[in-house]
Parts: sequence; C-alpha cells; structure tokens
Amino acid sequence: PGDQVPAYAAMLNPPQREAVLTTEGPVLMLAGAGTGKTAALTARLAHLVATRRAWPSEILCVTFTNKAAREMRERVARHLGSPGEGMPWLGTFHSICAKMLRRHAELAGLQSNYTIIDTDDQIRLLKQLISQSDLDEKRWPARQLAGLIDRWKNRGLNPADLDAVENEAYANGRGQAMYQLYQDRLKSLNACDFGDLMLHVLNIFRAHKDVLAEYQQRFKYILVDEYQDTNAVQYLWLRLLAQERKNICVVGDDDQSIYSWRGAEVANILRFEKDFPGAHVVRLEQNYRSTPHILGAASGLIRANSERHEKTLWTEMPGGDKVRVIGVWDGPEEARRVSEEIERLEREGASLDGIAILVRAQYQTREFEDRFIQTGINYRIIGGFRFYERAEIRDALAYLRVIAQPQDDLAFERIYNQPKRGLGAKTLEKMHGHARATGLPLAAASLQLADSDELPRRAANTIGGLLRQFLAWREAAETMTPADLLRLVLDESGYNDMLAADRSAEAAGRAENLSELARAMEEYETLGDFLEHVSLVMDSDGREDEETVTIMTIHAAKGLEFDNVFCVGWEEGVFPSQRAIDEGGLASLEEERRLAYVAITRARRSCTIMHAANRRIYGQWTSSIPSRFIEELPEEHVDQQTTMTGGASLWRANWSENEDPFAHVAQNRPERAQARGPGWQRAVETGYETRQKRLAEPGRSAASFAAKPRSDIAIG
Ligand code: ATP
Ligand code: MG
Repeated sequence: PGDQVPAYAAMLNPPQREAVLTTEGPVLMLAGAGTGKTAALTARLAHLVATRRAWPSEILCVTFTNKAAREMRERVARHLGSPGEGMPWLGTFHSICAKMLRRHAELAGLQSNYTIIDTDDQIRLLKQLISQSDLDEKRWPARQLAGLIDRWKNRGLNPADLDAVENEAYANGRGQAMYQLYQDRLKSLNACDFGDLMLHVLNIFRAHKDVLAEYQQRFKYILVDEYQDTNAVQYLWLRLLAQERKNICVVGDDDQSIYSWRGAEVANILRFEKDFPGAHVVRLEQNYRSTPHILGAASGLIRANSERHEKTLWTEMPGGDKVRVIGVWDGPEEARRVSEEIERLEREGASLDGIAILVRAQYQTREFEDRFIQTGINYRIIGGFRFYERAEIRDALAYLRVIAQPQDDLAFERIYNQPKRGLGAKTLEKMHGHARATGLPLAAASLQLADSDELPRRAANTIGGLLRQFLAWREAAETMTPADLLRLVLDESGYNDMLAADRSAEAAGRAENLSELARAMEEYETLGDFLEHVSLVMDSDGREDEETVTIMTIHAAKGLEFDNVFCVGWEEGVFPSQRAIDEGGLASLEEERRLAYVAITRARRSCTIMHAANRRIYGQWTSSIPSRFIEELPEEHVDQQTTMTGGASLWRANWSENEDPFAHVAQNRPERAQARGPGWQRAVETGYETRQKRLAEPGRSAASFAAKPRSDIAIG
C-alpha cells in the first residue's frame, strides 16, 4: 500500500493487487478457477524484484508443471526486461529439489553427478532385490512394492519411520526391510528415484540445521502455485523453508484438488491459517477466463460436491454460447464430429493452438490421433506419449511384427524376454553369435540354437518354446482377424498374466491401452495393412513450427486455458472412471467431479462435451450411459444436441457415406495432401476400403450391429 501502481500490476483488480502489495508475512489466496491467481502470483514475483525487495535469486517460486514454470519465467522476463542478478528458483517441487540435491549430494550419501532413475529402472531393481531376498515376485509384485515406497516417500517417511502397520503392508512384515534394501542399493549405484528428490532434501534439512538455515536466509520470499495439490513431504519441506521469514504466499483452489491419488492433501491449504497465524487471506471472485455459460455450468456442477468451501464466481465476459453437450453414436463418430468442429472453427478463423481435447484416460487419445492423422489436423499430446509410442503398445507391436516378418530382429530382441522368461544377456549374446555365424535372422538362428546343445537346457527349452509359439501364431494369422490374433498373442505369451499380476495403477492403464489397440485393429483386414498403418502414423509427427491442436489428460491441463475445449467420453465408466464407481466412496466420486470442474473451466470461449452411446470393448459393442456429470450441469447453461446417425454409421466408422477422405483433405489442406505423399494416401485408403468392404459383406448390414447392452459389464 502506498506504492505507485507499476505496469505489471496495472491490469490487476483490487484484491489481486492486495495480494501483490502485501509482500511481508504469510498470504493465502484461495479462489476459484480463472480468477487470476497465477497472474497475481506472477505479478507478485515481478513486484518483489522491481521494488528491490529481493534479487531474483532470493525468491523461490514453485509451480505445478514445467510448462507453468516456463510460462511464468517468460512473463516475468517480459515485466522486468533484463532481470537483475540471477534467476529466481522457479520450477516444480522436483526440479527445485533436484537442484538442491546436486549441491548437497554428499549429505545424502550420493555424489553430485547422481542419476535419477525412471519407473522402469526402479521396477527392474526392485525385482532383483525381491528375488535376492527369496520372495516370490508373483505373490509380492515389484510394482506393489514400488507403489508403497512411493507412498511412503510422499509422506516424508524413511524406512526407519515406518510403523508396524506400514511394515505389514508388504510380504508379511518385510516392507521396511525391503524399503531399506532398496535405498541402500540406490546409494551404491549413486542413484535416486523421483520420490527421493524431495525426501533426501527434507532429510538434509532435518539433519543439517546449517544447510536449512542457509536456504531460510537466502529465500526472502516463497511463492507457491496450486497449493491444494501439495502432498505431505512437499508441505513439510515448505514449512521448514518458510519458518524463519514467514514470507510465504500460496495460492490455490480446493475445488481443483485432483491429485489425492498421489498423496496430495487438500487439508494443507485449509490449514494454512493455522500453520501461519495472522496469514493475510485474499479471495478472488471475478473470473477473467470464461464466458458466463461456461462458468455457470462449471459452478453448478461443483456444487454437487459436499466437502468444499462455497465460492461465488462472476464474470464480465460478454455473451458466448451455452456449453454444448453432444451425444453421438459411437467412438469413431465422436472423433469425426470433433474433427469436423475443429475444421469449422478453423474456417471461422480460430487458431489450432487455442483448441484442446481433454480426455480422462490416456487410452482415449487413440481414436482422435487416427482421425487427425487422416484429416491432416496437426496435433500434439501433452504429458504422455503418443499412443503408438507407449511401451506396452510397442511390445505388442513387436510381437505382431515378428509374426508378420520373421526377419525383424529388432522387434524380436524387444520381446524375447518380455514378459520375463529368465533369458539373460548371455543367452542373447549366444543367439547373436549364432545368427552372425549362420547368416540367419535372429529368430531363426535362435530356433536352431535351441535344438542344439549349446545353450543350457532351461534356456534352450524356453527359447524353443517361444519360437514354436511364433510358428503357431503365424499359422493362426492366416485365418484370424488381426484383432483376435493380438488377443491370442497377449494371452499365450504371458503378457496379460504379467499385467494381471501387477497391482499398480499404471498396469490398469496399460491393459486399457492394449484393449484400445485391439479395437483399433478391428478396422483392418490383414496384419500387414495394420502394421503399415502404424508405421505411417508413427512417422507423421507434427512439425514444431506449425499450429497444433492439443490432446491431453485433464490432469495435465490444470492451470492452463484454451479458447475452445472439447471434453470427450463423458460416459459412466469412462468419466467418472470405472474405478471411481467401483470404489463407491464419496471421496473418489467427488475427486472425479473436481476433475470435471477443472476440465470445463479450461475453456475461454466454447466448451463442448461429448458422449457416445456405444463403445467397443474387447471387440464387442456395449451401450453406455451418459456421465452423471452431464445431468448435474444446470440446464440454463447447457445446449443438448444429439446427432446420432443411427446404426448405419458403425461400419462407416471414420468416414461418412460417400465421403472420400482424399477429396476431403485435398480440399481442406491441399498443402498437406501433397506433403504427406503416397504412403499416407495408401494408409488412409486401406482403412477406408476395409470398412467399405465390410459394409458390403452379406449379413453384415449395419443394422445387425445395433448395439446390445452387455450384461457382464456393470455400469452405474
Ligand atoms: P486456475 O485456477 O485455472 O489456475 P487462475 O486463477 O490461476 O486459474 P489465471 O490463469 O491467472 O487464473 O488467469 C486466468 C485468465 O485471466 C488469464 O488469461 C489471465 O491473463 C486473465 N486475467 C487475470 N487477471 C486479470 C485481470 N485483473 N484483468 C484481466 N484479465 C485477467
Ligand atoms: Mg492458475
């Protein structure tokens, strides 16, 4: 107060300005979506530097994603021109802790060049430790242990901190010992996992008061975005750092807490005033992002949650359309409809950069990717791999490639021991040696080798068995549809068993991705057609400098905004997810509803919610029920449309009747039709022709595929 209003604060409203100018002491900004929390936090950072209250390097600013950190850095640079001394410590909790840990690695028993291992390495390491400890990995899967260790680390617990109950959670009371073993092993490898980044630094702060004091002195100001999603270890870390100066400003929205499955505790934001007595609380009510209908729909929806703090939100944004709810016949039609809408928006002058498709689960991206590739709409996937690049999809494709193409050594090498068959590097070496000596492809050479006595009996039997399986699959491929073949292979290879034994959350996602792959294959007649389609799809990465539509999960979209948002797959079992429904608890459904709130509030101008009446699950059509969240949207803000073209659309799948994909692309994007070349044309045609042929098959009239509800899938 008293300060002149500088440029970076000029656009701010009075409460925002208050949050910026109240520089000393704890500040809590608790407000709904799109009210300018992040904007105010950014201005605060600029203000602290511009008024010389602190050098940039004396400010710690925590964002939720790297993308958010990048945006904030750009915004601050814009406000400040050349930013005085150093840069602020600006990034995610993990990136900031990684930086701190490099400086003090020796205090955690590491060297400063330590490596950060990923989940795959982590699982591999745990498997070794489990088998060394004479535990049965089938009974006590590595992923289960990894999940537990993660959870403990999120709570700031070291092995010694576990209580009896936690210890019992793995292998009849061996949780603590295995956790300790894992930590020791990591140290000897000069490595740490993701969770260690926070935990090691917290341990250092706890054990070395001088180090903690150094940071407490250094950081004159601490700023934290998306505070509602901090977990216990992050909370403890922040509290230690802020204890001295107490100049901590946190912002968040309890309605947007969507990471409780990763240990986030919404209670952290609600008890801030207790932790920091005298905290200055700022509430923002004006939303600057969305039109009244979008805001009204989102606010009405979140009101169905019981555990929340009621907030008033209003906007001065003019007009705008109601939130559209569109019901379509099936998944392919959903993708087609969205892509038509995108082309319409483009014709009206919208930029692809301002368009997002928000999915609940990663596997949902596939149908959109396929359609966008065919229509030439550039897209990118944030916070995840493109569908065909995911590990389990690559594994499955590798099996199929070896079946289709026995000389495909690379594919064979990828899966000869995936799932684990106890074939080690030694066996692979011998196989390679024999392949070189005989000039045969790896698979064929290995079969020979298996029948000789050059391999240990067990390895010879295993590899021989696998290759004979491949022969059988190759034969099956002659008569089976590609999709059925894939299902057979996943079953017989033990891949499905491997996923079933794996009780982690990711395993469920992997299984979903694989059934989505089978679904994609339904559209192809031969394995060769499908594999060609895939290789072209994998090759057609959008160029960096072009505008792109963004496809992402709602989780990854937090804090971001787009002009036009498509929320897809709003059906019971998809969103809310089947898991949330099965768990049945209020808590998990309320978290799904908060996710829905986050999804709608990403939209600035238009929000379109899609739901399909039928989805293909495991090759069977099943009818689905619109999401309960649709019903909860206040009627006055919603425009319901149904464009079901009936059963006839089933076999038309991606393209409607008489619609020629080439004419379509040539007309809409001539440059792309040219650039993509003949291979791409062939791929589109293959898919199209297959569908046309199927439509023409006797007894395959569209009507005979009218969806029947499946009794073995419980919905609702
Ligand atoms: P979320 O809860 O989704 O993270 P948020 O509260 O952080 O949202 P911001 O992203 O900071 O909201 O702001 C939303 C939009 O409103 C942005 O486009 C921002 O530039 C704009 N905005 C923020 N404050 C103002 C203001 N005072 N005047 C005009 N526009 C503003
Ligand atoms: Mg924000």
